[in-house]
Amino acid sequence: MLEIKEKSITIGIDTNKCDTCETKACAAACKKYARGLLQIVDGKPSVEHLSAEEVLRLGTECLACEIACKFEGNKALTINIPIAGLDVYLTKRGLQ
Ligand code: SF4
Repeated sequence: MLEIKEKSITIGIDTNKCDTCETKACAAACKKYARGLLQIVDGKPSVEHLSAEEVLRLGTECLACEIACKFEGNKALTINIPIAGLDVYLTKRGLQ
């Protein structure tokens, strides 16, 4: 599992699913809608060409990679966005 930390989100990628992905849509979306942080290395998305500080500075948190992977890739990528109070809200309404 590859974890990429941006300012307020964490991108998780199950890279085992990427080997058979024919589109590599995450990287294309990152290039088109953000700053192209994700590059494909050996068939898998990577930010190894950047330092952690560069990832934090350049990341736009646009979510385009998650949408692209979900609809055009192998559903390997999820973004965790912590929202203060969400657990309490969901519990109160019986939603979790
Ligand atoms: S689109 Fe999804 S499955 Fe395809 S390379 Fe990117 S993260 Fe992996």
